[in-house]
Amino acid sequence: MSFTEFFNPLNGVAKIEFLYYLVLILSIVYTIIPNHLAKQYVEYVIVCSPYIMIPIFVIRFKNNIIYLIRKPKHETLVFPPKAYEMIGNEKISLTDPPFIMVNDKNVLAFANQKIRKIMFGRDFYNLLTDDERIFVIGHELSHFKKTEEKVVVKSIFVIICVVFALSFLHLQPSLAWSPVVAIFCISLNNSARYLERMADMSGASYVSKETAIKAIRQSYQDRPERTSQTHPAMNYRIKNLERYYSQFN
Ligand SMILES: [Zn+2]
Repeated sequence: MSFTEFFNPLNGVAKIEFLYYLVLILSIVYTIIPNHLAKQYVEYVIVCSPYIMIPIFVIRFKNNIIYLIRKPKHETLVFPPKAYEMIGNEKISLTDPPFIMVNDKNVLAFANQKIRKIMFGRDFYNLLTDDERIFVIGHELSHFKKTEEKVVVKSIFVIICVVFALSFLHLQPSLAWSPVVAIFCISLNNSARYLERMADMSGASYVSKETAIKAIRQSYQDRPERTSQTHPAMNYRIKNLERYYSQFN
């Protein structure tokens, strides 16, 4: 993962995330502008910003948090044999049965790391053909894999948590905090998008280009322009897949 992946706002950021970039810009502006009434206002905005940035960041975990607390009813899904072979080939141990259907309109599909199963939202599942489901399974399996990139991302997360803990212990909320919070949020969101693109390529290795792109389109059904803190925008994911398949031409 390149350094620019961490700070590239062109990967399809959620609108609300521009706040993080704004805080970074304001922090620079603050150090440049001379002492003046305006400087006090900028300071006020910077000092207060973590109280807005942190909740925005936490909201991205909403679905995961809900399904950590709420145990989904096991509703067995039967897939073509290929789906079960994939789990073996990727050498990933999932609990049996590996797939669960949930009645939740907000759920498309996700890798539930806690119970080690792949969850499908009923509506999304019904939208897909068998081949598109294979793509989705390949994508989700990638989230169970341990990769170098994930180790890097987790290390950054741990380091920043330690920095946070230390600053909580020793400092009042200060000006220096806000850019740290902003960098933390930006880098973790962007690395999440990077991992999603890797997962898409993983799913793509099992199906044709048309199938993969159709499955991506299905997941953005209602709002193709939708942006999120964790996933790249639809067009960005499609471009990524086109680049992936073009290697084989
Ligand atoms: Zn994913």
